[in-house]
Amino acid sequence: MNPRRLLMSESAWHLIREAASLSHPSEAGGILIGVRAEQALWITQAIEINPSTRDQSSYLLPRGATRRLVKAARAVDSRLGYLGDWHSHPADVPTSTTDHATLLRTAMRDREQTVLLVARQRETDYYPEVHQSRGDAIERCKVTFVGDLPEQQERNRE
Ligand SMILES: [Zn+2]
Repeated sequence: MNPRRLLMSESAWHLIREAASLSHPSEAGGILIGVRAEQALWITQAIEINPSTRDQSSYLLPRGATRRLVKAARAVDSRLGYLGDWHSHPADVPTSTTDHATLLRTAMRDREQTVLLVARQRETDYYPEVHQSRGDAIERCKVTFVGDLPEQQERNRE
C-alpha cells in the first residue's frame, strides 16, 4: 500500500528544526496545528511548548497547554485545529513504542486521525519522521512540503 500523504508548510518544519537544534542535546516538543483537507492532513503551524520535564530521552507536555494554544489559533483562523504533537529525538533513534502508544491514546481521546512528528537527528541535521493514526493502527506518512495556508477570503459583505 502506498504511504499516506501529509502536507506540511515549510515554515512549520523550519520552526521545529530550529527548536530541535537549539535545545539539543535535550528534547524539544510541542503541538501541530493545521487543517483537515479532503485528501490529506496539512500541518500549517508548529508551536514549541516548554515542557514540564525535559531531558535527553523524554519530553512531557504541560497539562492544559494544548487546549489553550489551539483555542488561540482558532480565534485567528477558524479553519485551524489540533492535528497532533511533535518532539525531537536528539539521537538518531526511531519513533518509540511509547511514542506510538501516546499517539493512539490521543487519537482515541479525540476520536480523530492524529499525527505524531518526530524530528530525528541524523549527522548534523534533523529530519521529520511522521506517523498518523488510522483507527487503532499507525501508518508512516510521506511528507510533502508546501507553502503557507492562503489567507482566509474576506466574507462577502451584505
Ligand atoms: Zn519519542
